[in-house]
Amino acid sequence: MTLLIKNGEIITADSRYTADILCEGGSITRIDHNIDAPAGAEVVDATGKYVFPGFIDPHTHIHLPFMGTFAKDNYETGTTAALCGGTTTLIDFVIPGKDEQPKDALQTWREQSEGKACSDYTYHMAITRFDDEVEAQLRDIVADGITSFKVFLAYKGAFGINDEELYRTLELAEELGVVVNAHCENAEMVAALQQKLFNAGKTGPEWHEPSRPVEVEAEGTRHFCRMLEVTGAEGYVVHLSCADALKEAVEAKMRGVNVHVESLIQHLLLDASYAERSDFEGAQFVMSPPLRTQRDMAALWAGFETGLVDTLGSDHAPFDTEQKEMGRGDFRKIPNGIPSLEDRVRMFYTHGVATGRVDLHKFVDVASTRPAQIFDLFPKKGTIQLGADADLVVYDPSYEGTISADTHHMNVDYNPFEGMTVRGRCDVVTVRGNIQVRDGEFVGEKGIGKLLKRPLSDAGE
Ligand SMILES: [Zn+2]
Repeated sequence: MTLLIKNGEIITADSRYTADILCEGGSITRIDHNIDAPAGAEVVDATGKYVFPGFIDPHTHIHLPFMGTFAKDNYETGTTAALCGGTTTLIDFVIPGKDEQPKDALQTWREQSEGKACSDYTYHMAITRFDDEVEAQLRDIVADGITSFKVFLAYKGAFGINDEELYRTLELAEELGVVVNAHCENAEMVAALQQKLFNAGKTGPEWHEPSRPVEVEAEGTRHFCRMLEVTGAEGYVVHLSCADALKEAVEAKMRGVNVHVESLIQHLLLDASYAERSDFEGAQFVMSPPLRTQRDMAALWAGFETGLVDTLGSDHAPFDTEQKEMGRGDFRKIPNGIPSLEDRVRMFYTHGVATGRVDLHKFVDVASTRPAQIFDLFPKKGTIQLGADADLVVYDPSYEGTISADTHHMNVDYNPFEGMTVRGRCDVVTVRGNIQVRDGEFVGEKGIGKLLKRPLSDAGE
């Protein structure tokens, strides 16, 4: 399909100008003034609107088995919601069970996504056990284009790995040149604090945060960064939530450790008081690391302003209110997750850009360009230039709306930002030149999303 987007104000991480964009065969083939529409081309008038590169969510859980149930979205609903919010590529996590082989888990995730995804996507490969057999499979998986790993320092006895396994993972990652994502919380401390609180009769969702205080996350972050320092591997701290952990990551960066930091829209906009809501409503706001204080939120915003935080993620993991009930009377059993992939971009725009806190270029950088660079998707994804995939977002900054579960596209019965005002709307969203969204609604073709195989590059370094 030939697509011509006319007169939009093109915004990338480092440029801003008004021009027309011609897309042919799925790629951007010309950027110029006054391009005449080729015969049969679809023309989109973007006058008075921004044109952003498609946004990239580096952290989602679309397919997620948990305690005998599954997170509510599937690849059709999850990628539809992502597209309505301007996200054209997402990176999901393949998480093998403790006794499962990585290749078998990858196969499971691929079966869930292929022919169903409406946006492009790729995977981080989680390592929940490390031995010689796993290592051999990981080498094949990396060679096949899945070039990032994920480890959990938390979740003792479930997904968590010990330090020997972590060390071997990082050595392998350094050898292969892949990035290692890490969930940084000290597992032993979490387990001990959970038990202590529970034994004291503190069982409600409001006790989730005190069971994983900032010290626990800061310790996990420091631990991971020091392991990176020793092995020379490239690391990525996922969902960093607080000032104390940011300090550890920044100190590591200053020592020359090759570590990137991701923070989430939830941690920027919601504080711990949400998990204190009565009648178990607080369970909707339980995730790990937990929601923190206003002071921590300010530190994260400052991290984005100054470039100390590299990327904006969602950690989308939707469990509905019925599934959250599994943890009534025991906060340890509340399924962790706050749905947010649809609202990540627009809420950051609303509270970051529209308030003047973060400029347009930084916004594009953290929500698209940096994720593409760090995870070997750049420059096919993450920018607007000749030869890049025609993943584009025509954004109307004058639109004002209200977030609500009644109108969102995620397959979950609540929205953590319910009732909040949102500035701007994704008028047109394209995936490789295919118009998937118009006026904020999905109008495209289902199942066209591709699994992106990623060649190793040095772009993230
Ligand atoms: Zn996650």
